[in-house]
Amino acid sequence: MLLTEKIQEVREQVKQWKKEGFTVGFVPTMGYLHEGHGSLMQEAKKQCDKVVVSIFVNPMQFGVNEDLDSYPRDLEADKKLCSELGVDLIFHPDVQEMYAEGFCSFVDMNGLTKELCGKSRPIHFRGVCTVVNKLFNIVMPDKAFFGQKDAQQLAVIQRMVKDLNMDLEIIGCPIIREEDGLAKSSRNTYLNPKERKAALILSQAIFKGEELVKAGERDADKVVSFMKEILRSEPMAEIDYVEAVSMDTIEKIELLQGTVLVAMAVKIGKTRLIDNFIITV
Ligand code: AMP
Repeated sequence: MLLTEKIQEVREQVKQWKKEGFTVGFVPTMGYLHEGHGSLMQEAKKQCDKVVVSIFVNPMQFGVNEDLDSYPRDLEADKKLCSELGVDLIFHPDVQEMYAEGFCSFVDMNGLTKELCGKSRPIHFRGVCTVVNKLFNIVMPDKAFFGQKDAQQLAVIQRMVKDLNMDLEIIGCPIIREEDGLAKSSRNTYLNPKERKAALILSQAIFKGEELVKAGERDADKVVSFMKEILRSEPMAEIDYVEAVSMDTIEKIELLQGTVLVAMAVKIGKTRLIDNFIITV
């Protein structure tokens, strides 16, 4: 497995692979890797000859009062997991390599970024679109793998690739959870034992909300209210949002039809966690 901090080295390696006829799969991450990231790498390994993983905590997608400085990092553990899963190349640039002096070009999006996380994190998706665009231009993958855990991000990236005619395929992968239901996240490490227990309320509300839809409920308000009620039963949970939107447009819906995303962001103590379910009705 190769590890490089340099854009040029990634380019040269990928060019070489393509010359030899290999396909390239790409998994962008912010590191502190867990089995959720691992599942994307495994899928990339299945679908492509070579797998590139990027590890970059992208300052551009963090708001001023967010957790950029405290975001967990552990490159040694990340290298170990990547190597065990057969990753071929880790790209681990520093901020200077990605945003050299004078950087002033951005990729932005309307529409899909207005609801859900876009509301409480207004500059987040501009940072995501810009960095993902740069990473695609550096790695030039045939396929890139994203988790449904960040469902709005998945929809935004799919839209960006379509709108800007990017020549690659985006593959969405299911949410990987802890045994007790909590969606795996690098941010779970912020939770103290009491908060970790309280955080279970998210997946409980997700599972029960999904059951209600499967049982035939089609009124979005009813499903959302029901899930909020469950969340409110946990005194440590502070709801940022629970919303039902169309998976394609990320616009709010009243009636559940087509492919629907029901998503939530909830603060447990100082930690903001997200979870969701997607259902086609
Ligand atoms: P991050 O390092 O948090 O930026 O995540 C990198 C990629 O891993 C994104 O596409 C996430 O959606 C995906 N991911 C993170 N957690 C999970 C999870 N629990 N299950 C599946 N994918 C995940």
